[in-house]
Amino acid sequence: MAKHSIVLIPGDGIGPEVTRATRRVLESAGLSVEWVELPAGAAAIEQGFDNVLPERTLAAIKAHKVALKGPVTTPIGKGFQSVNVQLRKKLNLYAAVRPVRNLPGIKTRFDGIDMVIVRENTEGLYSGIENEVVPGVVTSLKVASEVACTRIARYAFRYATRRGRKKITVFHKANIMKMSDGLFLNSARKIHEEEYPNIDYEETIIDAGCMKMVQKPEAIDVLLMENLYGDVVSDLAAGLVGGLGVVPGSNIGDDAAVFEAVHGSAPDIAGKGVANPLALIMSGVMMLNHMHEEEIAKRIKTAYDAVLTEGKTLTRDLGGKAGTEEFADALIAKMK
Ligand code: NAD
Repeated sequence: MAKHSIVLIPGDGIGPEVTRATRRVLESAGLSVEWVELPAGAAAIEQGFDNVLPERTLAAIKAHKVALKGPVTTPIGKGFQSVNVQLRKKLNLYAAVRPVRNLPGIKTRFDGIDMVIVRENTEGLYSGIENEVVPGVVTSLKVASEVACTRIARYAFRYATRRGRKKITVFHKANIMKMSDGLFLNSARKIHEEEYPNIDYEETIIDAGCMKMVQKPEAIDVLLMENLYGDVVSDLAAGLVGGLGVVPGSNIGDDAAVFEAVHGSAPDIAGKGVANPLALIMSGVMMLNHMHEEEIAKRIKTAYDAVLTEGKTLTRDLGGKAGTEEFADALIAKMK
């Protein structure tokens, strides 16, 4: 019997291509796993389910506790709530964790970047509470609760402590959103003072913070922020180290975790076999560490570092010519 069971959601667009490659890499590295493959996104509707996040898929993640997910396309204007927002809310995956670092062999404008973005995943402006006050005037409600603000702050400080990180910077706009961002800040400040005074702590207004990110990104350690800011800043950070093809991510809750790349379903290159699977493979490495399979995780990381350093088998987004499967083959060859 396989040691682990993991829910696998191939997703849409390039999702099936990058999940196939990732699955091969994980198995070749020695992971004993039974994949429980289930749909989400446009694929779920095509297969006859009435929701982009079928109840069966949700129940499987609850039961198996870990999922590896390809990107999905949420059909626009058809009344479906985004799969990702549903997953995060229904499974209470309150922390999005996105490590962003320079990779060997990938030339970028900056060196020495090694930051982690911790994003609150369940509320803020993503609560989806919108109203038409009168025709032509709409509002979108930003929600902040003390429970969620405290929970994400405690998660970030605990993560920093476990990973030997030194400093947490909160990006905020409490000068304008005095109550909601004010609550976020107060909660983080309280956890710092009462539980983790040993971790350095600073607060930066997000606009100034974004400037610092592109002036001196190597000075940033752990960034903590609410939902929308985290979404935007994650892509900015991805751009600093080589783009969306090289940034992994995880959505963590107390009872389940879903691992996925930051990038979307890339319809422009879907089905062509050219997508870079590295971001999902890196998300797989985060998943392995979460499952205490550190040795297998290290084997894969060493292999992709070697392939990138060599620079002979890179996908197009990184300036090479290799296809998705070719990149995975090169990585697997390094593990033999
Ligand atoms: P995208 O990330 O799909 O694509 C942005 C650009 O990056 C495109 O040019 C694409 O070709 C390129 N790119 C992305 N991933 C790549 C990879 N692995 N290798 C090589 N190039 C890659 O963003 P988008 O175009 O804004 O969104 C497309 C769809 O994806 C939308 O339906 C959106 O809702 C969805 N989306 C899903 C997720 C998710 O499921 N986690 C995240 C973001 C966007």
